[in-house]
Amino acid sequence: MHIVFAASECSPWAKSGGMADVVSSLPRALAKHGHRVSVFFPYYRQVAKAEPKAPVVVPSITIPFPTYSRFVRILNGGIAGGVQTYFIDCNELFDREAFYGTPSGEYADNAERFGLLCRAVIEASKILGVPDLFHVHDWQAAMLPVMLRSVYYFDPVLRNVPAVLTIHNAGYQGWFPPQTIEKLLLPWDMYTVDKLEHYDKVDFLKGGIVYADAITTVSRKYAEEIQTSEFGNGLDGVLRKRSGDLLGITNGIDSEEWNPATDSHIAAHYTAENLAGKKECRRDLLHAYGLEGVSDDTAVIGVVSRFTTQKGFDFIVEIMDRLAQEDMVLVILGSGEEYYERLLVEMAERYPAKVRVQVKFDIVMAHKIEAGADIFLMPSRYEPGGLNQLYSLKYGTVPVVRATGGLDDTIDEQPDGEGNGFKFWGYNAWELFDAIQRALETFRNKEQWAKMMRRGMAEDFSWDKPAAEYLRLYERVIQNRS
Ligand code: ADP
Repeated sequence: MHIVFAASECSPWAKSGGMADVVSSLPRALAKHGHRVSVFFPYYRQVAKAEPKAPVVVPSITIPFPTYSRFVRILNGGIAGGVQTYFIDCNELFDREAFYGTPSGEYADNAERFGLLCRAVIEASKILGVPDLFHVHDWQAAMLPVMLRSVYYFDPVLRNVPAVLTIHNAGYQGWFPPQTIEKLLLPWDMYTVDKLEHYDKVDFLKGGIVYADAITTVSRKYAEEIQTSEFGNGLDGVLRKRSGDLLGITNGIDSEEWNPATDSHIAAHYTAENLAGKKECRRDLLHAYGLEGVSDDTAVIGVVSRFTTQKGFDFIVEIMDRLAQEDMVLVILGSGEEYYERLLVEMAERYPAKVRVQVKFDIVMAHKIEAGADIFLMPSRYEPGGLNQLYSLKYGTVPVVRATGGLDDTIDEQPDGEGNGFKFWGYNAWELFDAIQRALETFRNKEQWAKMMRRGMAEDFSWDKPAAEYLRLYERVIQNRS
C-alpha cells in the first residue's frame, strides 16, 4: 500500500506538540509492515536551517489563487526508517519566525498557507506517485479531502483515492472568513452549515470531518468525548453524524526517541531491572534547574507542556500556596500563552526553593524531565491523546493526571497503589491536590513506589498494535471507494 501523509508538523524538523511525534513515528511503523509511506510538510525557516541543502525533486508546481498563482518546490527530505520525507517549499508563506503565528496573533494568511499545503500535496503526489490513500492531520491538512471531493472530483487518478483525517486536537479548527471559499477556489455551495460553515466562518477541520472517508482521534475516550457538546467545540453534531466512520486509536511512542535505556539526551541510562541510572538523571535535572541539595526523600514533580488553558495550569496555580507546604519540588518546562508564562514565573519567584520554571521549547530538557522527575503532572482540562504520560510511564515517572481523553484511557489508579498512576475526575483544582497528595504518600513507601514505576515501564507502548489498527482502517476505506 502507498500512503501519503500530509501535516503541518513532523519531528524532529518541526514540532510544537504531540502531533509532530505521531506524524514521524506512525509512518515508520507502517513502513515496517512493508508499506510505502511518504510524508509531506512545509519547509519552514526552522526546517530550512536544519536541511539547507535538501535536493529539489519538483522545481515548480503551480498553486492557483483567484488573481495570481504561487509556485511551490518539492524538496527531498530523505528516507529514514523506510519513510520518504518531502518538504513543501514556498518561501513567501513558510520562511517565517514561527509555524502559525507570533505572540501578537496568528498569521493573517494562514488559510492561504495551509490551503496551499493541501493543494501542493495533491499536485506533488500526481508527479511523485498517486497513493492508495491520503492520511491528513488536524485542521492544517484537513482541506485536502475537501479539495479531493470538490475541485479534483473529475480527476481520473484521484477519484477513488480515499482520505483519512486524524484529529489530534478539536480545540484548534482553523476558522477563517467566508471569503476563504473564493480564495481557495472552492465552490460556494460548500459554504453551508452541514459542510464548511461554522458560525459565519469557514472551518477547515469541519470540512475535513465532512469529506474524509474516515476520521480518527488519538484515543478511544476522546472519540466518545468529542461527540458531546462539552468536548466537541461545536463540532459534536457533525461528528455524531459521522460516528460510524469515527474511530479512536491510542498512540504508540517512538521507542528509538523515547527509551531510558538508550536516550542520548539524559545523564545516565536505566531499565526496569536496574533503576540506578534514574537517580543520576534526577541529580542532573535538579542541577539543570539550580535545585542542588534537594533530599532523596523529596519528590521531584515535573511538567512539560504547552502553556495553554487546555493543560490545566490554572489548577496548578490555584493550589500552589498549599502545595508549597508539601515535601516536593516542582520543575516546569513550557512555552505558549504569555498569561500562563507570567503566572508561572510569578509562582517560581514566590517559592524559589520549591518551584522552578524554564520558559522555552527544549527537546533535550523535556527528556531530562521525563527521566529525572519522580512524578509527572498532567491536569489537562481535556486531552485528545497525550504523549507525555506515556513517555513518563516508560521512564518510570509516575503520572498524576485528570481522567479525560487519552489520559483516562492510559492511566489506571487503584486504591492499593496497584495501578500505574494517579488520577482525578472533577473539574476542580482541589481534586488535583488530593491526587498529588496520594502520589506523595505512595512515594514515601519506597518499595510500593518502585513497584509502581516498574509496572508502568513494563507496559507495551509500541506502535505495533495501533499501526495494525490504522492499516485495517485504511484497507476498509480503500475497499469502500473501489
Ligand atoms: P500536545 O500535543 O497537546 O502538546 P502531548 O502530550 O501529546 O501534548 O505532546 C506534547 C509533546 O510536545 C511531547 O513530545 C512533549 O515532550 C513536547 N513538548 C511540549 N512542550 C515542550 C517544551 N516546552 N519543550 C520541549 N518539548 C515540549
